[in-house]
Amino acid sequence: MANLSGRTELQAHYDVVVVGAGLVGSTAALGLEKLGLSILLLDRAEICSGKATKVHSDVQRFDERSTAISHGSVEILSALDIWNAQNLHACPIHHVHVSEQGRLGTTRLGAQELGFDALGYVVPNTTFGRCLESKLLASEIDLLSGTQLIAANYQTLDQQAGFQLIVGSAERASPDNDATIDCKLLLAVDGAQSETCKLLGIDAHVKDYGQRGIVANVQTQLANQGCAFERFSKLGPLAMLPLKEHISALVWSVSIAQFEELNSLDDKAFCQQLEESFGDRLGAVEGCSERISFPLKLSLRNELYRNSFAVLGNAAHSLHPVAGQGFNLALRGVAVLLDSLKNAQHEQGHIGDTRYLSCLDAVHGPDQKRIVGLSDYLIDIFAEQSVVPPRMRQLGLVSLNAIPALKKEFAKQTMGLAGKKFSLGANQ
Ligand SMILES: Cc1cc2nc3c(=O)[nH]c(=O)nc-3n(C[C@H](O)[C@H](O)[C@H](O)COP(=O)(O)OP(=O)(O)OC[C@H]3O[C@@H](n4cnc5c(N)ncnc54)[C@H](O)[C@@H]3O)c2cc1C
Repeated sequence: MANLSGRTELQAHYDVVVVGAGLVGSTAALGLEKLGLSILLLDRAEICSGKATKVHSDVQRFDERSTAISHGSVEILSALDIWNAQNLHACPIHHVHVSEQGRLGTTRLGAQELGFDALGYVVPNTTFGRCLESKLLASEIDLLSGTQLIAANYQTLDQQAGFQLIVGSAERASPDNDATIDCKLLLAVDGAQSETCKLLGIDAHVKDYGQRGIVANVQTQLANQGCAFERFSKLGPLAMLPLKEHISALVWSVSIAQFEELNSLDDKAFCQQLEESFGDRLGAVEGCSERISFPLKLSLRNELYRNSFAVLGNAAHSLHPVAGQGFNLALRGVAVLLDSLKNAQHEQGHIGDTRYLSCLDAVHGPDQKRIVGLSDYLIDIFAEQSVVPPRMRQLGLVSLNAIPALKKEFAKQTMGLAGKKFSLGANQ
């Protein structure tokens, strides 16, 4: 049945077809394989090239960003045999320091005082991507690069219920080579603009923050000593995440107007402005890598599952990076789904049955609401026109620092330890 040119290994039937091989889609595919399911993972970009790739001007699988991975996410990635701190070039976060420009109150969280080796880790997306690629190459998962979904039709035939898909070249150079594939479960993990969701007519609620996130790696005079800084600067919230001794990953969220100004600065002037906003905790900002930027929007998918269909990752929820929780939340979504599908197998049920997929609403939904709420709360209270007066914010940071129970709760929420425990792992 399948006839995509040069892909003779393609099967006509898969248990699961995963659309989108970003950090979340690749992780989900590897987790599903551990359940013994047959999987096709497709992406419109090149999946296993050994480097970040760009096929179309707007498609880049792994960019120069870094991701702060929470303690809870490390547990999930370890259970899926993906976590290897050394291969991932993961830098441990030993402390978190939260402050506001022009105010004295600060909050400090230390891994040791909370009884952990590290509060989390910072991993460059490119090394994370490479690690996932080598796991995918060593797996039984079928990979289709430069490919997109052309059509998806749900069909009900009792135990055979699922989707009939047409997949074809992302460049649409030769539609003759399109292939037809059946699957029991279709997973949309193709990013915030999910074409798969569009094909199925599932919209998203989008809120534009009117901001851009500036990302760069910056070199500082003093070593960061594994400290992650969250600074509510006058221009907007900025995070400096430890990558190497004197290198931190900057994520700076600023208004569009401020972005235009910052973007017009050369590297030296940009570093001076950053130093002014960040303060002198790491000494002088001595240099920065190429700066990239992203529009900042909240995008929440209206439906997370249907018969034989589920949405994960940025396709389900794309968040403001202020709390660094988008990937961590997505990974918990993957874990919730894997646990439920394992249960389906145990009960000899159909993996596309909404009885099993509804966990994405029932279990993952409240987690999503909590994290979106936390991110929006941080943006709102530290905004220029905030309803919370600066003195109250200062008091908040001081109290958080001084009250151990409050500090522990805050750490639990941001370390990904607040919710459900997962029973991931291979089927026995
Ligand atoms: C500035 C910034 C900083 C961040 N920092 C953190 C952090 O510190 N911690 C954290 O937890 N999260 C962070 N996040 C969020 C995190 O980056 C995302 O949650 C995560 O990358 C989402 O991955 P994804 O695989 O779902 O989506 P994507 O990375 O968007 O991947 C989608 C994949 O689908 C493919 N695709 C797209 N369209 C199609 C199509 N039509 N057909 C086939 N394939 C397609 C793409 O090529 C891509 O490979 C940050 C986000 C930003 C913007």
